[in-house]
Amino acid sequence: MKLDLKLTGCRAITMDPARPAAHTIGIWQGRIAGLDEQVADLPAAETTDLGNAVVLPGFIDAHTHLAWAGRQRRTVDVTGLTTVAEVLDRLAGAPGEGWIEASGYDRRILDRPLTAADLDPVTGDRPLYLADLSGHACVVNSAVLRQLPGITSDGWLTENEQLAARSLRLPHPIDEIITDLHESARQALAEGVTMCAEAGIGAGLIASSPLEAAAYQRARLPIRVQLMVSAHVLHPVDAEPGDGIPRAIDLGLHTGFGDDMLSLGAMKLWTDGGMIARTAALSEPYAGTANTGQLADTEEFMRAAIVDGHRAGWQLAIHAIGDRAIDFTLDAVAEAHRQRPRSDARHRIEHCGLVRPDQLDRIAALGLVPVVQPTFLFANGDDYSEIMGPHRAPWMYRGRSFLDHGITVAGSSDRPVADGAPLRAIEFMVRRRSSGGRAVGPDEAISVEEAIRAYTLGSAYACRKEHVLGSLTPGKLADLVVLGDDPRTSDAIAEIPVLATMVGGTLVPRR
Ligand SMILES: [Zn+2]
Repeated sequence: MKLDLKLTGCRAITMDPARPAAHTIGIWQGRIAGLDEQVADLPAAETTDLGNAVVLPGFIDAHTHLAWAGRQRRTVDVTGLTTVAEVLDRLAGAPGEGWIEASGYDRRILDRPLTAADLDPVTGDRPLYLADLSGHACVVNSAVLRQLPGITSDGWLTENEQLAARSLRLPHPIDEIITDLHESARQALAEGVTMCAEAGIGAGLIASSPLEAAAYQRARLPIRVQLMVSAHVLHPVDAEPGDGIPRAIDLGLHTGFGDDMLSLGAMKLWTDGGMIARTAALSEPYAGTANTGQLADTEEFMRAAIVDGHRAGWQLAIHAIGDRAIDFTLDAVAEAHRQRPRSDARHRIEHCGLVRPDQLDRIAALGLVPVVQPTFLFANGDDYSEIMGPHRAPWMYRGRSFLDHGITVAGSSDRPVADGAPLRAIEFMVRRRSSGGRAVGPDEAISVEEAIRAYTLGSAYACRKEHVLGSLTPGKLADLVVLGDDPRTSDAIAEIPVLATMVGGTLVPRR
């Protein structure tokens, strides 16, 4: 046997307990052929000495929005602006005609909330959509409000009202989406991400087009992608009654279809909003207010989507941030299993942001996988700690408690809601320090190895790909990342340079 490539001089952290370290990695036909003495005597078409660099399995970001992140690059960016005057000044320079799309709005840091009345003199008759950085809210001008006769608002719209405004601008052309996907995939790869799971295509809060899957199929991205399908595209089908499947997507395709580069993942649905927009559904109000957030839809719709999706063989990816949304999710998933017992359904809770102590055992018992975004707390930990209050702040985006309950944790970014770099997230999971220097749930800190596992094997498990990805194990796909330093000994994990990545056996150095 002749290897395609032999990597020597590696300090590999394999994430495989059977063989945790390796110095040589043999690659053949896009897969890992063997490690160290298993490949030492084999000839190779090419040998690359990595000079004692650290090698990890490629990072898997289990929840991203590549199309949305790419789209954002086309918009007027108001990120970080702190006064209404500055925002208006930035928007006044919007080029072109027709719709003005802008992003990066954060009313938490603004001197006062922006309204349609502020915007109208600047935009005139051009409709303006300014996206809140949470993805759960926006500000629009009167030209947009006039097209939404059923909605009374000063311009600030959240959740379903935001969706109504956003829908006026949709769909985006497939060619534009493809360009956006390539931009985002390039960025992800530069950060060491070799696979992404796209959290909700086809319909719902952040979809771009009902033909979104076609964009991914044509794009042929340099990273692996798994598509989560929005629950809103499930529709009634005339299946044989004995199949027990009342609703499906066309052709009955479901989780697992596809290949190693592009596959169908979970069915995505939303049960509440988010903490930035104060719409995550809580059992007790946000500190100092009477607001308990909101569920994303009627309980009937959400319960039916969960039960029908489960019956049709889907893995479910259920967005639930507040503890009230998580209560609802636990009840609905238990009901789905009562109606049709399934072993290893492996349903996921996207975000799983505020988990009360009494919910941990239920999450474990139902085999649910929390797909967390540690960088949310790095960026927003100070704000979130305030709005949850001291009693609940330690319950946010847990780590240690999940692992101690035998729950598999998957790492993700929710790019572009948060910075997409896995090393930033791993550093947060270990240190639990916000960008403002605040300790956020310090008891939830986990070890560097555990954090790496969340972003490799854990996220592979969440995507049902752990048999082919997530560790440097002979037989698995040859996806890896080469780092400039060892995260286990570094005191600045987020700053470690990504030197190269590999997807399916091709080593690509970063510039
Ligand atoms: Zn998301």
